[in-house]
Amino acid sequence: GWHMDSLEKKGMNSSLLNNRKIFYALLILVFIIGSFLTWKTQTNAIETQKQETIMLAKSASSLIPKSYLLTLTASELDLEKEEYKIIKQNLIRFVENNELIHFAYIFMLKDDDIYFAVDSEPENSSDYSPPGEIYYEAEEWDYIPFIQKIPTVSEPFEDSWGKWVSVLVPITDYENNEILGVFGLDYPVSTWYMNTLRNTIQVGIMTLCVLAIIIVLQMIISMNFELKKEKQLIFETDNRLRDSMALYKAVFDQTTIGIAIADNFKYLVETQTGIPSINPAFEKILGRPKEQIADVTWSEITNPNDLGVDLEYFKQFKAGIIEGYEMDKRYIRPDGKEVWVHMIISPLHFENPHNKYHLCIIEDITSRKIIEKNLKESENSKSILLDNLPGMIYRCKFDKDWTMLFTSQGCKELTGYDSDSLINNAEVSYNDIIAPKYRQYIWDKWITVLNNKQKFIYEYEIVTADGQTKWVYEQGQGIYDEFDNVIELEGLIIDISDRKNSEDRIRYVNEHDALSGLYNQKSLVEHFNNDIENEENISKAVIIIHIKRYNLMITAYGYSYCESITLDLVNNLSSLTDETHMLYQLSMDRFALYVKNFKNIKELTQVAEKIVNILSYNVALRSYGAWVGLDIYDKSIPDIHTTLKNATMAANFVKGIEPFGYSIYNTQMEESIRRQEDVKDVIASICNDSKREVFHLVYQPILDSKGNICFFEALARIDDDKLGSVSPSEFIPIAEKRHLIVDLGKIILDEACQFIKLLENNGQKDISVSVNISAIQILRDDFLSDLRDIINKNRIPAHMLILEITESVFAENLEFINSQLAKAQVMGIRSAIDDFGTGYSSLSRERELAADIIKIDKFFIDQILVKDEKELITSDIIHLAHKLGQKTVSEGIETNLQKEYLKRNDCDYYQGFLFSKPLSAKDAISFLKKD
Ligand code: C2E
Ligand code: CA
Ligand code: CA
Repeated sequence: GWHMDSLEKKGMNSSLLNNRKIFYALLILVFIIGSFLTWKTQTNAIETQKQETIMLAKSASSLIPKSYLLTLTASELDLEKEEYKIIKQNLIRFVENNELIHFAYIFMLKDDDIYFAVDSEPENSSDYSPPGEIYYEAEEWDYIPFIQKIPTVSEPFEDSWGKWVSVLVPITDYENNEILGVFGLDYPVSTWYMNTLRNTIQVGIMTLCVLAIIIVLQMIISMNFELKKEKQLIFETDNRLRDSMALYKAVFDQTTIGIAIADNFKYLVETQTGIPSINPAFEKILGRPKEQIADVTWSEITNPNDLGVDLEYFKQFKAGIIEGYEMDKRYIRPDGKEVWVHMIISPLHFENPHNKYHLCIIEDITSRKIIEKNLKESENSKSILLDNLPGMIYRCKFDKDWTMLFTSQGCKELTGYDSDSLINNAEVSYNDIIAPKYRQYIWDKWITVLNNKQKFIYEYEIVTADGQTKWVYEQGQGIYDEFDNVIELEGLIIDISDRKNSEDRIRYVNEHDALSGLYNQKSLVEHFNNDIENEENISKAVIIIHIKRYNLMITAYGYSYCESITLDLVNNLSSLTDETHMLYQLSMDRFALYVKNFKNIKELTQVAEKIVNILSYNVALRSYGAWVGLDIYDKSIPDIHTTLKNATMAANFVKGIEPFGYSIYNTQMEESIRRQEDVKDVIASICNDSKREVFHLVYQPILDSKGNICFFEALARIDDDKLGSVSPSEFIPIAEKRHLIVDLGKIILDEACQFIKLLENNGQKDISVSVNISAIQILRDDFLSDLRDIINKNRIPAHMLILEITESVFAENLEFINSQLAKAQVMGIRSAIDDFGTGYSSLSRERELAADIIKIDKFFIDQILVKDEKELITSDIIHLAHKLGQKTVSEGIETNLQKEYLKRNDCDYYQGFLFSKPLSAKDAISFLKKD
């Protein structure tokens, strides 16, 4: 309402408004305040617009699945990707739904250049930027979201596509907070300003209105005042008034605000005093010239929809209940089109205090209304978008009920409850819907998330209205006030049951061994680590069962038979399992029994003994063996891996010749492993020739019964600075295990052949050299060809060479080894069975070994010293060999007593410290000469 009465009275009484200075001061003041308000509104409007558009960009960008984005590389490769196509489709749809936005796109930063990853232009559009195209026109602000990780709004700028204001928000990876890309929206500069100018124009217009009204008032008042004296006189004598009149005229004629004086339902074309009462703007807005306006009542040209309100106000106004009123209404122009105006009605006591005139001021707000309408429509399309999302968007209070303030329509489908029953916990709280076991966790998680201003992301189960359990994925965040207090939470919850179900299946496959259905190593690690966390003080141990030489077993029996052996074993081992004894299959040949809550080591070793017992019933495993190792978990270690490693190590340290046995981990094992590593390194450097000098052969003479040297046995030696002298009993098995024996074996054969050459050069043409050959060497197909190459290279006669092969090797590969030896024999190379009597228990099968010489193991030679002659079988071995046409060598003779016995029983050759220790090549030659 307008307080014209009081103003007018004041003016009349004090003539204040008649004072030109004060009038101008007032005008200037109003003008300054108006300009300030206009400026302020404009700044605010731009700020609000920026915030709103950033929010819009953020919410739009949050609908782009991060996982999809992660697959994009901002290169042409993306074109084929399904994820690219989906994101692109989303952007296109988004832009279609938002009239004000012309482009949406995702930038990525590579090597300081900004690339298009996806944009909202269809491929056939001329504005389309394919992924990987560099955005050459990037400005400083385009980098801000990448570098400072904050949204930004650009200055208005021009590029090859037009004039724009860009809104850019970073898309970050929740996990590591890295920038995946930047989501940008381009507003054409024109719409951008149209939007912000809306309010500004309004304020500007209001200011003009006030100015105009002051002027009008001034005029009216002064006219009123002056007319009371002498109208003519005043016009002539009072320049002030004339100026005012001129100003009034100027404003009245030039303002875009429509001003008219009305008498009840009719606008006055002219007042009685001849002052124009309808200004040009008024005519323009109504689309009618003065003359036509005079012909109609305002109620006739008011849109019937607005007329009711207008008339109601007008009635009250006329009755003096209200002093004036303002409203938005539509006038109908002569062409039938509508014009929206903001109308202000105020009383006008003109000339005669009892007249019924009033002032009608109107402002054309049609364009604002259109924008409002568009805005409303885009709001609508946003809510359509929300309602069609697969899931539920929510805003809720941060309380233990998660009191819902808003939920999208997806609520019903997700939870089975209507939005209304959830909002303000009307029927049910969201917390009630969450499956009970997750409630506390979700609360705790939100608290940490909010403290760190992070996003809440979690998968959990809910129970729907009909009692069904569903897996959901929730992603949410806090809304904070300026003091960083959480006001509300908002986010998205979607149904992921389908995915979870298939995940469950995948997890089963992932956690279990495909063959036995036992849990696998991954599960063991998980279960164990879980227990470390939850049952910290309960004793834990791992028992490893390792089937030895499983590969050989597969070669011997075939794959499926081995599988059935394993299954048998699993079957038998399950008799040991319960909640505290759980069996896992780590690989084809390794199992683990996870034992927890045991009282002492004794209880554990009993379990290990039971396992060994079960193993020994498995006949097929006997010739391969299986070892059991155990280690107790040490609390100071963070996870199971060390325990597993130790138990495995212990399994490899099982001693003895029995096929099955167990051992408990101790720290010396580690020492020994470390030394094995060092030894392996030395062997490796011998083989690659970088440390050849630490390796050499020594030669132990082998004599006949008359004491003449007939052979030398070549024995390998390593003398390393760091490791000292390493016995072949130590390094040969390591070389075998680490696949270095083949290379080392060639070095040995080569050096032995050089020694043969040396002997030959020293005139010793009849003395042979025997070389120890590992099973792995002789089992190789290329062994013989390698051997031939070495012999040829050294130009020695093949018959000077004897191959020593340990008896135990024959056990499994009799035929193949026999055939290899037979081929060697064709070349003239002789062979000897080493350590005879230890490995291949049945003497009766000796005939099956295709060897020229038998080396009786030191064990039988030592027996000579401790047993009665009658009980000794040493002589039987010699006689048996002779019957088969084989020569015999006795090893490790240390006393004359042994030598005498052997002589008496016709042993052919003699070797041992009694005669000589192994000698260097040089010493061996001088030994020969001395002899
Ligand atoms: P082996 O083939 O049975 O060699 C005989 C071992 O008995 C040698 O030990 C030798 O020094 C030792 N010896 C000889 N006479 C006596 C004695 O009167 N009393 C005692 N107590 N021991 C005696 P060495 O050199 O330590 O070799 C140990 C084993 O290492 C060998 O047993 C052989 O199996 C293996 N080996 C040595 N050199 C090579 C090689 O070049 N290649 C391969 N594959 N294995 C080798
Ligand atoms: Ca030997
Ligand atoms: Ca031997």
